[in-house]
Amino acid sequence: MSKLYVDGRWGGASGGAEREVINPFDRSVVATVAEGTAEDAAAAIAAARRAFDDGAWTSTSPEHRAAVLNHVADLLERAKEDIARTETLDTGKTLVESRIDVDDVAAVFRYYGNLAGALHPRVVTGAGPDVISRIDYAPVGVCAMIAPWNYPLLQVAWKIAPALLAGNTFVVKPSEITPLSTIKLFELFAEAGVPAGVANLVLGTGPEVGSVLVESPDVDLVSFTGSLKVGQYVMRAAADTVKKVALELGGKNPNIVFADADLDIAVDYALTAAFFHAGQVCSSGTRLIVQDSVYDDFVAEVARRADLVRLGNGFSPDSESGPLVSAEHRAKVEEYVRIGQAEGARLLAGGKRPTEPELQDGFFFRPTVFADCTREMRLVREETFGPIITAERFGDQREAVLLGNDTEYGLAGGVWSQDLEKAQWVARRLRHGTVWINDFGPYLPQAEWGGFKRSGLGRELGPSGLHEYCEPKHVYQNLKPTAQNWFARSADA
Ligand code: NAD
Repeated sequence: MSKLYVDGRWGGASGGAEREVINPFDRSVVATVAEGTAEDAAAAIAAARRAFDDGAWTSTSPEHRAAVLNHVADLLERAKEDIARTETLDTGKTLVESRIDVDDVAAVFRYYGNLAGALHPRVVTGAGPDVISRIDYAPVGVCAMIAPWNYPLLQVAWKIAPALLAGNTFVVKPSEITPLSTIKLFELFAEAGVPAGVANLVLGTGPEVGSVLVESPDVDLVSFTGSLKVGQYVMRAAADTVKKVALELGGKNPNIVFADADLDIAVDYALTAAFFHAGQVCSSGTRLIVQDSVYDDFVAEVARRADLVRLGNGFSPDSESGPLVSAEHRAKVEEYVRIGQAEGARLLAGGKRPTEPELQDGFFFRPTVFADCTREMRLVREETFGPIITAERFGDQREAVLLGNDTEYGLAGGVWSQDLEKAQWVARRLRHGTVWINDFGPYLPQAEWGGFKRSGLGRELGPSGLHEYCEPKHVYQNLKPTAQNWFARSADA
């Protein structure tokens, strides 16, 4: 368990350092893993570079690589329970959520496992009868993949599956606090038929390992999922070598409720939108924006139900939500509660740690609801990444759109109304990568995922998620070359 995976071999870190992985439920040590160094990152890049440049993997057919992806999906299904339990130990999320994650990860491998046809050359017409012209979809090269801790396995899978299908080689760096499920995924690769050197895994911190991946001239693309701040660094650092950059960053996602919505259902979804996985979801519906005439009752009901949420051990079937991921992260969330109160937001629920004795060792925080929020507040503008709902009010649909778009982010948003024309009107105007109408949260492997504005660059999932990992290459073949005599005098001489 405690290893790096470089060039098809498991090994320790070059410096011999190790890190304890902590269970957020009770602070117990789940595992001890190798803490990689800059040297390990360089070795992994070199292995990926060799595997790419020797061309063996790259020149296999898309169908062959698709079969490997399907094999990975089979193995994931076989190992589902083990991986799900590992994810719960590592992140604190409930086992039900972890099982959903593993199913979703297998589905992503299957989706791309059925997309080999998208890599077939595109015939280009219009150049005349004596020309054959086509677009090949070549792999980009060596890809660096850097992932966050909230959906450790899911986020790497969204990168690995399309990158493998397109014929790239890569180095993955999971979050240093949640590396375990990624290790389990890598344990499946050799059996699934991924050759040595194609998939490499380095554990360690961002500044030590991640920055080497981002800055290396031997890396052709960096795909990063994480915070806006680190994403900005990644983009700047990648400029020196003009790497391709794909960024999946934060969100401050509006959940807009009109008075004519089915309000019971909308309350129910408002809770899951914001409190699922303790709010540690990039697309969480943390900004509740409710129409004036129903605002007070709606928000009061959300707060009443927030107080009923059962926190607990992710392995207990009674638990509806687990803890936050770390002490540091809980401290950040608590700081936002203080900021909100100082800004004049009115606390209706939560805002504190739970009092149950059995939860005292974990990093728990009660689901929190603030009313009387306005868009100038830091609580409303900044990503808290915790179980906090801020409730704002709006008058008409224009104001709903104005508020929903008043954020530097643009990842996701929801609209609730039984007037579908109005809901569509709002959806068309929201500048977010995903808009749900009378729903909140679902994504599909076949539908693009990503952000407008500072939520990121590029898209994961869907056909665009594959094309991130391809270089379109125009191959133009002249079947009857004849002298051009453009430089006629040089031909005469
Ligand atoms: P983070 O930015 O702190 O870390 C993300 C990854 O970057 C980690 O692996 C970390 O080790 C690495 N890193 C840190 N400093 C680095 C550096 N200097 N160079 C290279 N790598 C570095 O984010 P986090 O706290 O792990 O995750 C939470 C964030 O991720 C939230 O902002 C959330 O919105 C975002 N997120 C976005 C999506 C999406 O689809 N848009 C999905 C999940 C999470």
